[in-house]
Amino acid sequence: LTMAWRSRGRRIDPDAQRTPTPTQAVEGLPLPVTCVEPKDVVTEGHDLASAARVIGVGRGLRSEEDLALVDDLARVLGAEVACSRPVAEDLGWLPKDRYLGVSGRRIAPRLYLALGISGQLQHMIGVREAGTIVAINTDPMAPMIEDSDFSIIGDLKAVVPALIRELTRAR
Ligand SMILES: Cc1cc2nc3c(=O)[nH]c(=O)nc-3n(C[C@H](O)[C@H](O)[C@H](O)COP(=O)(O)OP(=O)(O)OC[C@H]3O[C@@H](n4cnc5c(N)ncnc54)[C@H](O)[C@@H]3O)c2cc1C
Repeated sequence: LTMAWRSRGRRIDPDAQRTPTPTQAVEGLPLPVTCVEPKDVVTEGHDLASAARVIGVGRGLRSEEDLALVDDLARVLGAEVACSRPVAEDLGWLPKDRYLGVSGRRIAPRLYLALGISGQLQHMIGVREAGTIVAINTDPMAPMIEDSDFSIIGDLKAVVPALIRELTRAR
């Protein structure tokens, strides 16, 4: 495993407009993405908006069964669980009100822990106001690594159980 620290903010413009109007391109994106229909978010009892700690899971999770491992970490950390868009929209592993990004929820937790998320701009727009971003990813070249404050290069299936052990011990 490799652990790294870096300052973030390379690609995420903190001054970009938070709520795009229907006719405006979304700032911070190089692509001409336009918000055509702002939607009210219907939540299912998960208060992502006020959560101090949020764990985001991406396609790096590989199997829905591994969500149990993420839930264990969330319990120990006192965190809410969110995800990237494909995890909700394509795979259906989590409800659609839990994906983060330009077309999903935008949050500002003190800690955002990204598990197996590549960190495409469309996702990062949703988490750019997090106090600290920690990434766990097997790919040292993933954009998420560059945009995080701390990163662990490794397989989340090895790193997450180790984190749970250490956090439990530290309680
Ligand atoms: C118009 C438009 C709007 C969009 N809006 C959103 C949005 O609001 N929110 C959003 O999230 N996406 C959005 N997307 C999609 C976005 O572009 C990305 O495709 C998506 O965010 C990628 O999801 P991901 O990071 O989960 O998956 P991937 O890009 O497939 O990344 C998976 C990551 O997991 C890592 N990984 C693999 N195995 C492991 C392992 N065992 N342990 C640790 N790491 C591992 C890989 O290295 C990789 O970095 C939008 C796209 C478009 C075109």
